[in-house]
Amino acid sequence: MFRFEMIAVGKELLIGRTLNTNAQWVGRRLAGIGTMIHELTTVDDQLGEIASALRGSLDRRPDFVVVCGGLGPTHDDMTLRGVADGLGLRLKTSRIALLMIREHYSGRGLKGIEMTGSRRKMALFPEGATPVRNPKGTAPGARITRGTTVIFCLPGVPLEMREMFAESVEPAVRESVGRVHRSSATIRLEGIFESTLAPILAREVGRHPRAYVKSHPRGVREGVSRIELDIAVTGPSKENTEREVREVASAILRAAAAEGGTVKSARGRAIRGV
Ligand code: AMP
Ligand code: MG
Repeated sequence: MFRFEMIAVGKELLIGRTLNTNAQWVGRRLAGIGTMIHELTTVDDQLGEIASALRGSLDRRPDFVVVCGGLGPTHDDMTLRGVADGLGLRLKTSRIALLMIREHYSGRGLKGIEMTGSRRKMALFPEGATPVRNPKGTAPGARITRGTTVIFCLPGVPLEMREMFAESVEPAVRESVGRVHRSSATIRLEGIFESTLAPILAREVGRHPRAYVKSHPRGVREGVSRIELDIAVTGPSKENTEREVREVASAILRAAAAEGGTVKSARGRAIRGV
C-alpha cells in the first residue's frame, strides 16, 4: 500500500507562533491526486528529534517522507544534519547545491557575493543526497533514497515549499500512486442533530467501505442545528467514484429528510441529480 509521511521541523510550529500550513497544503494536494499524508510529525529544531522522527518514519517503510523546514542559514536550521544523523551519513559540501546558491544570488543582481560560512552551510548535504532546485528562494532542497523510500527535504517558507513540491515531489508521487480518481461532494444540512445523523452515516459507510464520510458540526443557530457533510470516494474509475458519491449522498439525504433534516446547499460534481 502506498504510504506518504511528513515531518515538519520548527519550534515555531510547536509554540503556536506559526500554523503548519505546509502540511495542510500538502494534504490537500495529495487528496487531489487520490492519496493523503498517512502520518504527520512535528518536531523541535533539535538534532536528536529530527533524527529520531526520521528513523521512526523509515521503520514504517513509507514510499515518501517529506521533511520540511530548517534548511536556511541560521543556527536553528539543522534539518540536513539531523537527517544525516538519522541515516548514519556524513555531511559533505555539495558542489551542485553551492552552485545553485551562487546562481540564486547572482540572479538577484548580487554577482560575486561572498560565500560566507552561513551561505555555504546551505550546501552542506548528507553524502549521496541530490540537490533539488528552489526556484523561489536560496536554500536548495535535498532528495535522498533509502531502500524503497524517497526522502525529500524542503524549505519551510510556504511559497518555496509549494513551488518545489509541485515541481519535484508531486510528479514522483503521482507516478507511484498511479491513476486514481477522487470524487467528492459537500452538503450543508440543517435541522438535524449530529447524534441523529450518526447511525445513518455508520450504515452508509458500512455499505460503502471505500467512501470517506465526515460530518462537521457548524453549531446551532436559533435552535437549528447545522452540519456540513463531506463525502469522497477514491478509485480507478471516475465514472464509478462519481456514481458511488451520488449513491451515498442520496441515501444519507433520504434518511436525514425522514428525520426532519433539510439540505441547505450542495456542491461537488458528483452530487448533481441528488
Ligand atoms: P525555516 O525553514 O524553518 O527557517 O522556516 C522559514 C519560515 O517558514 C519561517 O517563517 C517559518 O515559521 C515558516 N515555516 C516553517 N515551517 C512551516 C510550516 N510547516 N508551515 C508554515 N510555515 C512554516
Ligand atoms: Mg525553522
